[in-house]
Amino acid sequence: MYNMQNKRAAIPKELRALQRPWEIKKEIPQVEKWVRTKTKPTTGTYDDRPIAHYTDVRGRLCGMHLDEKTTDSLKKIAETEYFAWAVMNDPETANAYEQLKGFLDTHNIRLDLKFEGRYTNPTCKPKGLYELILKIMSILPYHHLSTDKFRKLLLGGMPDHYTLEPCYYDVRTKTVNMHETTILGAKRNFIGLFLHEIGHIFEDILPPNDKTTLASIAQMLNPKFAIDYLEGVEKRRFVQDNGNAGQFIAETYLHYVTQGEVFTKFIEDSEAEQREMWKEVNGIYQRNFDGIVYV
Ligand SMILES: [Zn+2]
Repeated sequence: MYNMQNKRAAIPKELRALQRPWEIKKEIPQVEKWVRTKTKPTTGTYDDRPIAHYTDVRGRLCGMHLDEKTTDSLKKIAETEYFAWAVMNDPETANAYEQLKGFLDTHNIRLDLKFEGRYTNPTCKPKGLYELILKIMSILPYHHLSTDKFRKLLLGGMPDHYTLEPCYYDVRTKTVNMHETTILGAKRNFIGLFLHEIGHIFEDILPPNDKTTLASIAQMLNPKFAIDYLEGVEKRRFVQDNGNAGQFIAETYLHYVTQGEVFTKFIEDSEAEQREMWKEVNGIYQRNFDGIVYV
């Protein structure tokens, strides 16, 4: 929760971690690539060789032979980078679910669960997921959530067959879809993607003149600000640079909420003309965040 008086909200530590480069064991590129782009591995042997399994974007189980050293390293890292699953009747998780549901009820958002892929067993639950979502949503302005543009949060399910998008904001059904692979993927990616999707709702509720201003400034910003998640900084910058103002607005939403001083320092360090444009961008966000500054 943020302090209404001074309008400063503390960035939770899980989100603050996105201010620094992602620490994944870089000496084994295979491990880094895995954690960035694949779901939590389960390991075993096949043909007497170590194998790691993951779930692809359609929810199918895939396997890959890896050498023993890579498998071990991946197994160790998997413990910290992903949500824990298969928690049987865990009272903490049940309680967290009720709390999140209660919070969403007060904003008139329905919570739908649809865990139907790799982990069909209804007794398997992602541990820490509901707490994390509640922590993120609690620091957002009331009107970003309690809007007729946001009616449902779907956790789980499989992506659309055509787009295969693991998550998206569906403007027709007013739903933020966080499909199963994003929940089975690294927590850091989940945070980035979840705030990016809420950023699309923000895009939708912005006053039209602010949206137009952001769209025109976005074209002139070079370089864009970017943070390290999924395939890394360069890829995230590319996503914002594809000429689609919506992607810039959504990704900047993530930056505004998680980056604090890192973002303001980037703005201060930009050359004069760029700095003025960034300040205008930042001002539009602050105004539409009811004045809240994340520190
Ligand atoms: Zn997007």
